[in-house]
Amino acid sequence: MTNKYVGVWGVFEEDYAEGLEKAFQRYKEAGIKHVMYGGIAHTFDVHEEFYRDTKIDPWIQINYEKNVGDAFGTKFNLITSEFNDLNALAGEYGLSLDFDITPGVSDPIVEAYPDTAVVDIEGKTSKHWMCPSNQDVRAYFYGRTEDILRNYKGIREVELDVVSIDFYDPQVVPDWVLPELYPLRQLAIGNCFCDHCVKKAKDAGLQVDKIKAEIAEIYKTATTLTYENFKDQAEAYRGAFDVMRFVIKHPELMQWLKFRGEAVDDFVIGMNKLVKSVDPSILISSDLVSPSFSWTLGQMYHTQPAITDLTKLMLYHKRIGSFEVKPLKRIQQAIPEIKESELLDQYFRLKAFDGPDSFQGFVDEGVSVENVYYEVKKAKMEVGQHHKIIAGLVGDPPATPDDVREAVVMAHKGGADGYMLHLWYGNAPKENVVAFGEQLRALGEIE
Ligand SMILES: [Zn+2]
Repeated sequence: MTNKYVGVWGVFEEDYAEGLEKAFQRYKEAGIKHVMYGGIAHTFDVHEEFYRDTKIDPWIQINYEKNVGDAFGTKFNLITSEFNDLNALAGEYGLSLDFDITPGVSDPIVEAYPDTAVVDIEGKTSKHWMCPSNQDVRAYFYGRTEDILRNYKGIREVELDVVSIDFYDPQVVPDWVLPELYPLRQLAIGNCFCDHCVKKAKDAGLQVDKIKAEIAEIYKTATTLTYENFKDQAEAYRGAFDVMRFVIKHPELMQWLKFRGEAVDDFVIGMNKLVKSVDPSILISSDLVSPSFSWTLGQMYHTQPAITDLTKLMLYHKRIGSFEVKPLKRIQQAIPEIKESELLDQYFRLKAFDGPDSFQGFVDEGVSVENVYYEVKKAKMEVGQHHKIIAGLVGDPPATPDDVREAVVMAHKGGADGYMLHLWYGNAPKENVVAFGEQLRALGEIE
């Protein structure tokens, strides 16, 4: 008898077009119990009293998801369906439709309320990333969640999708990403310097003005886009021991990176408190990027056991290249002398990944599947044996059924406590869902 957590990040519009019964049957046969549809947080009614403490109007996101759609497409049929009917149907297949919310990213909300955005060292604001320290942002997401949990029964889990601080989401890198040299871009990361974060940092005893001056200085080096400077940075920081030299020289920056992590955790702690106050049996889960670089977004694994019930690790190894290549391309456009292989060599070395030595290869192949094993194992070691790591695995194109099988095997070897198949990028082959279930069954993870 096995009780592993098995779920899918599904695309409702695709399942709806195919016929929900058919899609649910396939999920059931693959051992899936939990279905997280992108955009589901915006399918529920709005009860105004839950939004009194925020200026953010929840209809902005609802109308956007319905009519325009984010990078993952519109959610028209999801938003015009009744959650209770969908959940009842899912229940007939042993599935639980749960609640997923993305508390960081919203282009239309940032457009309507520019002061909710993350601010960088030069005072520029992100076009789509909201700051988790901003009171309006917090009250909006807490209010939306409470509104839904108090008015709809049967939700068993609240999943927080990438609570973090940065200018762009590494899982969906936009085309406007700036050229900034590694590793300084991350080690002296210039966000968020909004008024709320600055106040919070000062209250916590950080010497913010000194930190800002230091970051501004290092940022100047990170944005000096010459081949000579690239070579200097790439050759000065070749491995973990070199990075420690930087850390010792700039101790305040480490306080800043730690502070960013605490600001992210603080948002999650508030959400956890809220959810448990509505119903202590509802699970709270948080989606984190790979441990090798999650700290750059203020996401820390070692604090998760104290603040969440489950941690979902998102490493879509076949797909990550098409996103992560964008900042590298921007650097190369700015400094044409750099060879693709030089940029990739540095990228893989710093992030502890391995993969192809050309941009096209990186787009087509991503990073090698062994990285799934390493990242799951690292995550598991960070959180300890009593906290669950759910391995989020690529089911999206270009992944084939064999890729899905290999990723499941690697996650299992790394000690995963559960598995989620990611399909949100769209048009995933149905065979990938079948392969996911077959491999879990072959490993004895499902019956
Ligand atoms: Zn901020």
